[in-house]
Amino acid sequence: MYYFETSDSLPARAAEAALQWLFPMATYCLCCGKYINGSRSYCICDHCIQRITWGNVEIDLAEEARALGRPSALDSARACMKYGLYERRLIFDLKYDGLTYVSRAIANIMHDRIITDPRAAEELSGIDFIVPIPMHKEKEKQRGFNQAAKMAGHLARRLHRRHLPDALIRQKQTAAQRSITGQERYANMEGAFMVNPAEAAEINGSKVLLIDDVYTSGATAHTCAAVLREAGAAEVHFLGMATGNDFADGFFGLEKLRINRYNI
Ligand SMILES: [Zn+2]
Repeated sequence: MYYFETSDSLPARAAEAALQWLFPMATYCLCCGKYINGSRSYCICDHCIQRITWGNVEIDLAEEARALGRPSALDSARACMKYGLYERRLIFDLKYDGLTYVSRAIANIMHDRIITDPRAAEELSGIDFIVPIPMHKEKEKQRGFNQAAKMAGHLARRLHRRHLPDALIRQKQTAAQRSITGQERYANMEGAFMVNPAEAAEINGSKVLLIDDVYTSGATAHTCAAVLREAGAAEVHFLGMATGNDFADGFFGLEKLRINRYNI
């Protein structure tokens, strides 16, 4: 059952064809760079697509909140795959090459993740806005784009929802999250985000879907969700491409697995 309108209407197909003409999808695999003929799903070759740990991953927010001793600011958090070697490669291309078709391919993965999971489709069908996790202005200027905003824009177009790329502002450049523990990551994020005053009225009472490439400790997503809630958002959900979170549950192939930091 479809909870979202499909993208099969004539204008939607024409828009897709125009995009394809302007920015052709890759003829090289996004993970390994091998030549592909352009017909592969998500621009990923057969070898890599089999090695990506696909899954309808959900973060157990109640358990995460218990472990961290604080309530969750998110209503749900999901990802499309487990974060590993091949998944890292996809995100690396998006972040450092800035290729438009990479963000489109990832948005297509996210779109399919939502519409093929009845629970996700139902929970997210009432979403008003799609909001990317913002980068600090200086960092965005250096890189030239925010990869989360690129994904969010393509996903919004496919789901017929409004993209609000400037709804959140990152007002603090935070230290690299990689080297610190989960608890420290939350402290590190304090005061890092605010709701853009120009868009606060729209956020009030709305349902928001936050988008980012990876959900790791959840500190970034939770901090963004908390400021959106303070601004009156009725619901805040999160969707990422991949996760390595300790409280992520997912179906990978035939097996139901819990992800933890020791098996990625
Ligand atoms: Zn490949």
